[in-house]
Amino acid sequence: MLQQTQVDTVIPYYERFIRAFPSVRTLARASLQDVLGQWEGLGYYARARNLHKAAGIVLREHKGKVPGEERAFRGLPGVGEYTASAVMSIAFGHPLPVVDGNVARVLSRLFCLDGSLKREVHRLAGRVLATGDPGTWNQAMMELGATVCLPRTPLCSACPVSGLCGAYKNGKTGAYPVASVQRRPRHEVAAVGLIHDRRGRILISRRPEKGLLGGLWEFPGGKVQQRESPSEAVVREVREELGIDIRVDRELCRVKHAYSHFRVTLHAFDCVRLRGRPRALGCVEWRWIRSSELKLFPFPRANRKILELLETANRSE
Ligand code: SF4
Repeated sequence: MLQQTQVDTVIPYYERFIRAFPSVRTLARASLQDVLGQWEGLGYYARARNLHKAAGIVLREHKGKVPGEERAFRGLPGVGEYTASAVMSIAFGHPLPVVDGNVARVLSRLFCLDGSLKREVHRLAGRVLATGDPGTWNQAMMELGATVCLPRTPLCSACPVSGLCGAYKNGKTGAYPVASVQRRPRHEVAAVGLIHDRRGRILISRRPEKGLLGGLWEFPGGKVQQRESPSEAVVREVREELGIDIRVDRELCRVKHAYSHFRVTLHAFDCVRLRGRPRALGCVEWRWIRSSELKLFPFPRANRKILELLETANRSE
């Protein structure tokens, strides 16, 4: 949960998740939909899918015990260098350095590193690692970066390693880490339909399990292409995704949402099915549901924003 996400954000999700799945066994035996439901709002859903898969492997192949051997642990889905080093050092005492953004900042200031030298940061993290208690060391380094060696205004007078710090000694703490050139995230425009049938139900579809927001439910739609209006896009996308023809009645709202690598403006339209029975052409399944059932399905945050906006509008009418 802590990959790409701050501790304060994670805590309520973590507590809820652990209450729902208090053991490897309960997590492994839960449905993916329940796991995604508990994860909803935290983003980066591949983490939830991998965790669920990993729990299944731990239960089947390791008798329900998380393997303490690095190779076996690294073989689990979703485990990369950072997770392996963190878990192996903190839970099992393996001498592996953990490098997150906080640690990289501390090291770049301590050693006055020029440029974003990922390999050099890793090498130094390994060199300074206290091998007698690597777990405590790693946590201390992360904590130092998170609470003392702050990005904009490091609290050097309270820092336990100021006597060793090159940047502090040279009065150049603001110069490190050397900023890398940030590219502006791309912007996309997408359109979705809240498609109703004659019985007042709404059509939702489930995304393929691989890829962005994999396994989540959503309102059908997709990207607006060049020289296409959002309402034309939703008609085309719904035909491609579900094989039905719809009529767009009106635009309900627009929401903006930021993902890690891009921003999206999402147009939501009120639509009616005209022809055809849905088929899962560009999704893995679909359902007609009542609006009271929407909370039972895990949805991406951008889709939830649409629902929140519509609820607010309904209340004020
Ligand atoms: S002395 Fe200042 S810049 Fe150096 S590690 Fe400590 S807080 Fe960071």
